[in-house]
Amino acid sequence: MNFEIKLDSVSLKLISLFESIGVSAYAVGGCVRDSLSGRPVSDIDLAVSCTPDNTKKILDKNNIRYIETGIQHGTVTAIAGGRAYEITTFRSDGKYSDNRRPDSVSFVTDIYTDLARRDFTVNAMAYNPSEGLIDIFCGIDDIKSKTIRAVGDADTRFMEDSLRILRALRFASVLDFEIEQKTEQSILKKYPLLRNVAKERITEELIKLLSGKGASRIIRKYSQIILYVSGHLKTGFDVKNGENLCKIFDVLADETDIRVAAFILINSCPIDILNHSIGPVDTEIVKKMTSSLRLRSATVQNTNRLLTHFDTEEPRDRVGVKKLMFSFGAQFYIQLLELRLAVFRVMEDKNRCDAVKKVLAIVNDIMDKHEPYSIAQLEINGNDLKALGCSGKRIGVLLEEVLEMVIEQRLENNRDSIIKYVTEHI
Ligand code: ATP
Ligand code: MG
Repeated sequence: MNFEIKLDSVSLKLISLFESIGVSAYAVGGCVRDSLSGRPVSDIDLAVSCTPDNTKKILDKNNIRYIETGIQHGTVTAIAGGRAYEITTFRSDGKYSDNRRPDSVSFVTDIYTDLARRDFTVNAMAYNPSEGLIDIFCGIDDIKSKTIRAVGDADTRFMEDSLRILRALRFASVLDFEIEQKTEQSILKKYPLLRNVAKERITEELIKLLSGKGASRIIRKYSQIILYVSGHLKTGFDVKNGENLCKIFDVLADETDIRVAAFILINSCPIDILNHSIGPVDTEIVKKMTSSLRLRSATVQNTNRLLTHFDTEEPRDRVGVKKLMFSFGAQFYIQLLELRLAVFRVMEDKNRCDAVKKVLAIVNDIMDKHEPYSIAQLEINGNDLKALGCSGKRIGVLLEEVLEMVIEQRLENNRDSIIKYVTEHI
């Protein structure tokens, strides 16, 4: 395993700015965990020993823009190099009386106390270049053995904040880790406390869980928790469609949109394996579910689109495939085919599986051979048409017409042939 922690130049600069005036600063949490486990690092969060007011002063002095994203919890978000860096003062959480949030937080000056408030050992490590890795809870060992383990006493930690129960499942799914025995026992005992957590926060963790590499393993293993949470969110999830979902996830890419689409599809449109059938997708139910899951708007859009077009039959020939690649966009069409293939596998419908596989092979072949299926691939563009005297909406219409001719092999995709055709049809 490679123990190197790579931070970007902005976070390194931020750390050294703080250190140059005697303030301790570390990269913490997810970025250290992901870096140590060889995963791509998304956000870099920093923890510092000074108060949020002093953080603001230091950023002001160095002309670094920031947003006050959570001052009461000690967080200021610096914006630099087009990225956001959460900078949070070391803190210790007070008493928890609602199973979710501390009644109060107090700022502290040592990193050890700050690490002790964190949820899992793999999330409770800190790093800076001068001191190296600070790992008082042996997070590195848990990364090596792929283990999610609560920091401290699991019962206490889950009673403080029950969202951590779902976070444990989420990290186990995304990182493809196992949950350590004591932590697991506590999870199985305490999960009804999740009823006290806001639906938005549950959804956020659930979606990440669904999108993880280990999702089907975790959903199978902790099905009662997923059922409990789904009941809380009123998603219509039950044991039968749970198993179908896992079978779909076993073969589906771990991408959020397609996983969420499968989740909604399974919950709104149960599969009948005996009859190899799945009911038509009810777009009204889909809309209701995407909105009750409170997804990000891009995910809602793509999920709705995947489900609206789920019933699209496979075209009979290469020309038909290209036309769908054009109207859907190749990337979306591949997602749609992959979703159909996964669902047909669960339906044990061999004929339809074979039909989708054949189309997927054609799509890949078209892309490999750079055969045109989009306007951007034509040897002529809108400006060329303008130069030929075409204007307004007619440009788009004519380009589509040309593409259709090229796809149907009634016109060659070379400038001269297209110009000749366009001149005759302007
Ligand atoms: P991701 O890559 O999904 O953002 P992350 O580890 O950064 O993963 P966040 O939810 O952004 O997860 O939280 C950042 C860090 O804050 C965690 O790594 C953990 O140390 C701490 N943390 C977050 N939520 C909790 C919680 N509910 N209880 C204790 N510590 C938490
Ligand atoms: Mg994060």
